[in-house]
Amino acid sequence: MTATRLDGKAIALEIRNEVAQEVQAWVAAGNPPPKLAAVLVGEDPASQVYVRNKERACEKAGIASSLDRMPASTTQAELLDRIDQLNRDESVSGILVQLPLPSVQRGGTGVDERAVLDAIDPRKDVDAFSPVNVGLLMQGRPRFLPCTPHGIIQLLHRSGISTNGKHAVVVGRSDIVGKPMAMMLAQKDGSCGTETANATVTLAHSRTANLAEVCRTADILIAAVGRPEMIRGDMIREGAVVIDVGINRVGDALVGDVAFDEAEKVASAITPVPGGVGPLTIAMLLHNTLLAAKS
Ligand code: NDP
Repeated sequence: MTATRLDGKAIALEIRNEVAQEVQAWVAAGNPPPKLAAVLVGEDPASQVYVRNKERACEKAGIASSLDRMPASTTQAELLDRIDQLNRDESVSGILVQLPLPSVQRGGTGVDERAVLDAIDPRKDVDAFSPVNVGLLMQGRPRFLPCTPHGIIQLLHRSGISTNGKHAVVVGRSDIVGKPMAMMLAQKDGSCGTETANATVTLAHSRTANLAEVCRTADILIAAVGRPEMIRGDMIREGAVVIDVGINRVGDALVGDVAFDEAEKVASAITPVPGGVGPLTIAMLLHNTLLAAKS
């Protein structure tokens, strides 16, 4: 068996075109364009690329954007002050603070990342990281869906893969990917914006015993670990759907958390890295920014 490659790029483009059309109609009806305000602290090269890509994607969708570049030495008070201004600026629909913040990368305690994210007005929290939005998601009445897991739900749905009654194993329990992914897959019916939830979910992590065995029970295996190619072919059940969230730089190459060459011989469908989950994250950010403008 050779797995079908799930084309995240094409599906992301489809979603971006849909958002662009909706933005056009929204503006044609006399509304100001949605606006995404990004805050970038420090000079991390990967973060700079991510922010630039987000700005470009906004532009193509007719969404206005602004970028606040703040030095790595920015204090928590300065950052909170900036967020307060953006919260109060009525022209701003969505606020995005690019992570990780430099002090965290350095292992320092200067800026409390959690406090910064908590300060974003939940109505402008297009990453859906605030406790209010996480709580609403948990209760099956989300305001915004977090971008990467929502992108995966869309990828499955638009590829005709149902999660209904399936066993999904999510490896990784971060607040950004693994936990919300597990929560969305477990939701009843369409409460997370699609008809394809209703999965039975196992959430695995670094302390999971017999990880390989657990993974082999998955109809849908989602790897969000951040360890290059740790999911091997023999951890995948014949015919399973494999979603690789990992983006790991190994030398000059980007590799996922799944050993692709081994996995594609066993799985029925698989996302490549790059070109799988990655492009969907930005598409769902645009979707959330439009949603924020409309609400
Ligand atoms: P985190 O580092 O925050 O979380 C990693 C998770 O993996 C943790 O829950 C950790 O367990 C678990 N883990 C680590 N080692 C093992 C192991 N040996 N066995 C089982 N579980 C393990 O990462 P993120 O969730 O932020 O990101 C995961 C990956 O996804 C990264 O490669 C990142 O670059 C990528 N990513 C991609 C995005 C995209 O748009 N495609 C968006 C966001 C992230 P424990 O909790 O026990 O420590």
